[in-house]
Amino acid sequence: MHLSDRQRAALASICDTFAPGDGAGIPSASRLGATEVMAALVLHNPRAAEVRQFLRLLDRWDSPATQFVLGGSARPFSRQSQERREKTLLALAHSRITAKRALFQALKGAATLSYYLTPGPAGHSPVWDAIGYPGPLGVRPDAPAPPLTPVHPSAPTTLDCDVVVVGSGAGGGTAAAVLAGHGLDVVVVEKGGYYDDRDFDGGELSGLSRLYAPGPAATAEGQLSLLQGQCLGGGTVVNYTTSFPTPARVREEWAALGVPQFATDEYDSCLDAVWSRLGVNREHGRISSRDALMERGLNRLGWHVDEMPRNVDGCDTGVECGRCGLGCRIGAKRSATKTWLADAERAGTRLVVGVDVRTVTVEAGRATGVTGHTANGHPVAVRARA
Ligand SMILES: Cc1cc2nc3c(=O)[nH]c(=O)nc-3n(C[C@H](O)[C@H](O)[C@H](O)COP(=O)(O)OP(=O)(O)OC[C@H]3O[C@@H](n4cnc5c(N)ncnc54)[C@H](O)[C@@H]3O)c2cc1C
Repeated sequence: MHLSDRQRAALASICDTFAPGDGAGIPSASRLGATEVMAALVLHNPRAAEVRQFLRLLDRWDSPATQFVLGGSARPFSRQSQERREKTLLALAHSRITAKRALFQALKGAATLSYYLTPGPAGHSPVWDAIGYPGPLGVRPDAPAPPLTPVHPSAPTTLDCDVVVVGSGAGGGTAAAVLAGHGLDVVVVEKGGYYDDRDFDGGELSGLSRLYAPGPAATAEGQLSLLQGQCLGGGTVVNYTTSFPTPARVREEWAALGVPQFATDEYDSCLDAVWSRLGVNREHGRISSRDALMERGLNRLGWHVDEMPRNVDGCDTGVECGRCGLGCRIGAKRSATKTWLADAERAGTRLVVGVDVRTVTVEAGRATGVTGHTANGHPVAVRARA
């Protein structure tokens, strides 16, 4: 899907209002190419109704009716001065009408995110220099070859197995390893692709577009942001590796809601098994100056301060550390791809990537497998006992 010229012009006028540049070395959003980045982010939202609504808004952005709703200027928004456009958007931000404030937040979030993400035509945004960000680290030429060998179907495919696991993240990866370790024939089906140390470049745009599920950015009500890993290993590839055991009060709450196992010793031993396989330790907790300040304050208040348990081995707690959300270039993060999925594959599990599972097939009231499709539309079916 692409934007029409009219929609693109409307979007550029919105982006440039938030990020006008300085008329000298710092480019406006549209000059940098951030409008295209924002369009791509928005058009990838899997909620088709939200995409249609956004395109309709852009189509009508400069119309007299929209101008009336936005604040009553006779001139179309895109032909107003920067000052006037800022006033129009600020009026949305301060409106008493919730929908207008939500619209402002959505536009501001997407426009500024795109502006900071976009590398620009030279591959290194002047905006990054201006804010003191050195830019992505780039790929490591000495990174090892990826150890896993997942299958990416390029034709209609049917597989048979004992157990099919949909999703390869913290839950799916662990389940696959444990089940395969008990001799079951397991197939893991993952929507995202497989990325390893040699693919990670620390770039925000490349990380966000390859490793994360595309939009929506928030829940339907706009109150909670949604950020989820979408790649082999799921959230464990992009998470920050803070590995707290489930707190007792949470376990009690879950048990009271009808799953008594959470309050048992069995759950303790499960947590121990996961901690042990992920190599959770407290030896990689060098803190930033911001955290040191916080620590001083908390100590002065007499509050509990402790080292953060993390599932990393060999994190430099320096240059690489802090870019965890874009994949770990030095392979220090003990993600599912480095642990459970490796165990699973060693035990014979077939890892299938790039397949969006859409249906659980049911016969005579029993789940018999799943069906889905690749990005190119090839159907994939997995028949399973469980
Ligand atoms: C940026 C970030 C930082 C985080 N930091 C921490 C942290 O420091 N500490 C912590 O404890 N937690 C952290 N988390 C949360 C943690 O990673 C998640 O709670 C955890 O990964 C959830 O596990 P899961 O198995 O439920 O789902 P996920 O790990 O998200 O795995 C789900 C998988 O299913 C796949 N999938 C979804 N739909 C389909 C479909 N239809 N067909 C096929 N595959 C599909 C997805 O692509 C994904 O790979 C963080 C999360 C994020 C995003």
